[in-house]
Amino acid sequence: MTIDMEKATALIAETWRDEVLPHLEAYIAIPALSPSFDPDWDRSGHIERAVDLVERWMRSRPVAGMTVFRQVLDGLTPLVVAEIAPFGPATGPVGSTTVLYGHLDKQPEMEGWRDGLAPWTPVREGDRLYGRGGADDGYAAFASLCAIEAVQRSGGSHGRLVVLIEASEESGSPDLPAHIGQLAERLGPVDLVICLDSGCATYDTLWLTTSLRGLVGGTLEVGIVTEGLHSGSASGVVPSSFRIVRALLDRVEQAETGRILLESATVDIPDHRIAEAEATAGLLGDRATEAVPYVPGAGPMVDDPVEALLARTWRPALSYTGIDGMPSTGTAGNVLRPRTALKLSLRIPPTADPAAVLAEMRTALEADPPYGADVSFSRTGTAPGWNAPDLAPWLRSALDEASRTQFDQGLQLYGEGGTIPFMGMLGEQFPEAQFVITGVLGPESNAHGPNEFLHVTYAEKLTRCLAQVLDAATRRG
Ligand SMILES: [Zn+2]
Repeated sequence: MTIDMEKATALIAETWRDEVLPHLEAYIAIPALSPSFDPDWDRSGHIERAVDLVERWMRSRPVAGMTVFRQVLDGLTPLVVAEIAPFGPATGPVGSTTVLYGHLDKQPEMEGWRDGLAPWTPVREGDRLYGRGGADDGYAAFASLCAIEAVQRSGGSHGRLVVLIEASEESGSPDLPAHIGQLAERLGPVDLVICLDSGCATYDTLWLTTSLRGLVGGTLEVGIVTEGLHSGSASGVVPSSFRIVRALLDRVEQAETGRILLESATVDIPDHRIAEAEATAGLLGDRATEAVPYVPGAGPMVDDPVEALLARTWRPALSYTGIDGMPSTGTAGNVLRPRTALKLSLRIPPTADPAAVLAEMRTALEADPPYGADVSFSRTGTAPGWNAPDLAPWLRSALDEASRTQFDQGLQLYGEGGTIPFMGMLGEQFPEAQFVITGVLGPESNAHGPNEFLHVTYAEKLTRCLAQVLDAATRRG
């Protein structure tokens, strides 16, 4: 290790306190919804404001050999890029590039924020900085540059780095392939990818994500009559569009158990991933599920801790995320409604083929509509999952050493249930690359839901780990 970690730790603490936190609070205040949730994003200007804030801050940092620019492509969300030349006495294999990835677009507000909290209002309480997008994934750009700066100012070394901060992740990264295509030459061969958009099972050690689920989504719509009818005269003869929706869903998901019935959405779980889940379950015990805010008397679908970990990382599961065609309960009359539409979000196993799942799901939902109803599955989208390649020995020991230095505990490996579409894309494009996928989405942090927070202490320690690993990567065997 050439980096003086004591010096780096002090620098990182100072930068987090004086620079990162104030800018992150300003970022939280911007409702920079991902294009899926703000189709008019270009005119509403929030993405632009978030991009401005992040780009301006990156430019302001005293990082040697850095060029920051914004890549703008017609009709797409912009990409913020920082290209940083190799630095220090040991710069690693010649011609290799490390990509550091993050995103600045956000999920929508969601209801249920507790009193005193709100999505676009940053609130600091102890270790927690509440507000939408701080943890998912606004901190990534700041933490990345903070770590690079600390490496340079503490006697450390790093190889050639390219920081990519995109603005379409929460929509499935539709804009990223075109950006990467445009950047391909500049990017060169990528042999290490660092992504800070994932999670941690606890806040007391470094967690590496070894797999991510994919995603298949769409809107199931059932129409049965052309206008609403008095339920007293029509019901019993005219079928309910909602009941038809229920019947169609039974083709995809077993109602009693939540088991997904699509063959293409079930895979054989690799043995080493099962072993990993066993190790994680042994370490976490009850902590694996106790952070879930069940209502009194309620509990999980799966009791066994190993099965629970596998269920949320390697098995498919369906969520119902939106509904149209129904008035709210306060204003609903006794009417047989003409149509019902449900937004479906199916998480699929890391190695399942999203296109095949979508095709099977569409056929299951649209075939042979009951009563000749008007059934469609439209506005669909897919994102690939990802299963990590075997961890290179040098990287495993660098991560483990960083974890021991910063947390006094060794590295832990586990699968995540979420999706980061870009990892699947990069895995295909750079099959030889190694991946460090980690993040701050730990217990209760609740990204996508209400009361999202960034665990500030953990994020700062993660920044220190990152600095240590960037330095260690220059001496890889
Ligand atoms: Zn994210």
